[in-house]
Amino acid sequence: MNTFDCIIIGGGILGCALTYELGKRGKKVLLIEKDYPGAGSTGRCIGGIRQQFSTPGSIKIMMRSVEIFKEMHEVSTKDGYTSGIDWHQGGYLFLACSEKEKSQYLSIIKTQQECGLPVKYIEKEEALKIVPSLNEFDFIGGAYCNTDGQANPFQVLKFYLDGIEKNGGTVLSNTKVVKINTNNNIIDSVITNTGDKFAAPIIINTAGPWAKEIAQLVGIELPIEAERHEALITEPTKKLFEPMIVCYSPSCYFQQFNHTGQIIGCYTPEDPAKGFERNSSSEFLPEFSNRILKLIPALKDLKVVRSWAGWYEITPDGSPIIGETEIKGFWVVAGGCGHGFMFGPAIGECVAKLICKEDSEISLDEFSINRKFKSKEAMK
Ligand SMILES: Cc1cc2nc3c(=O)[nH]c(=O)nc-3n(C[C@H](O)[C@H](O)[C@H](O)COP(=O)(O)OP(=O)(O)OC[C@H]3O[C@@H](n4cnc5c(N)ncnc54)[C@H](O)[C@@H]3O)c2cc1C
Repeated sequence: MNTFDCIIIGGGILGCALTYELGKRGKKVLLIEKDYPGAGSTGRCIGGIRQQFSTPGSIKIMMRSVEIFKEMHEVSTKDGYTSGIDWHQGGYLFLACSEKEKSQYLSIIKTQQECGLPVKYIEKEEALKIVPSLNEFDFIGGAYCNTDGQANPFQVLKFYLDGIEKNGGTVLSNTKVVKINTNNNIIDSVITNTGDKFAAPIIINTAGPWAKEIAQLVGIELPIEAERHEALITEPTKKLFEPMIVCYSPSCYFQQFNHTGQIIGCYTPEDPAKGFERNSSSEFLPEFSNRILKLIPALKDLKVVRSWAGWYEITPDGSPIIGETEIKGFWVVAGGCGHGFMFGPAIGECVAKLICKEDSEISLDEFSINRKFKSKEAMK
């Protein structure tokens, strides 16, 4: 039997970031992934990174994530990847389409500015200067932060996987955790579909949309549900806008990749399919096209290259669940909802610091597994 300091179950952004950060701190870590790293939600996300959230915990964690993405880009570019992680700070513009939305943004911006975020409410005129291709008639202004950005999820995973290897970590792909053993309410070991047993005093569930199933292996019920979300990407086009544009009425969000010129985007359906449905629906492509063309008519001749579906790992309040469970040594780090990719780097660092008993300026209390889930993240 192999023994490690920590075992991580699930090789998406959260599992890879955490394995890397723990290895960097000298821990002997094993990452177990049932398919390949990135096979879950992370490889299906559109790479948006923003700090505009409504609660101090999420704002601060995202401000740290942005710093890490920047560092990662600098290091990986120097290390010889010409495009690094394709990090680009083009900003995020949340459109206000009514006075009600405007006042909601103004109240959230107050909290964001108190956290030190360079965000402001801009009137329509200024928004049109930032995005000249925006259709003038459909909005009155918006919340804008120019330090938000984008990165390539595959390049980010590659950065972490290379780092894990350098730190001496072990990654087992195509290996599924099928059983978790405990002893007197203390975590003990995992059994895989290959019949192997691996033991560690700390075992962390980073299984994203499957986090609930993993928790059930030790009799814990986690409020994390998989929900299908679809996306599409177009052929490249000339630079039309810098920021990710988010609109709630009707829902749609999209950005232009700085490194390729392609437009990539999604919308949140009124009634998203629950569970692990992964087919593309017949509604998505025409409906998304209608919505985006209402905002940016100049895209009308652009061709779609492909569309796909993935999962959000939804929690009742729209924020991740992080912490040690009632089983000593068994942790949950999951439930990123529609923003787990961007949270990944800072969550990985903060959880590693917690486990290694290092001081951290960022509190994870807001994401406690024992919280009441009463409030809701307003900027979804
Ligand atoms: C269309 C779409 C667009 C998105 N856009 C964005 C965006 O712009 N920005 C953003 O921040 N987020 C976005 N997201 C959300 C983001 O993708 C997720 O929140 C994030 O990737 C979750 O990462 P994770 O590591 O928790 O889970 P995952 O990436 O799903 O990783 C979990 C891993 O666990 C593995 N696993 C499961 N069960 C087992 C087992 N029994 N044994 C071993 N391994 C197991 C899975 O194979 C999987 O690889 C988007 C999601 C979708 C679907």
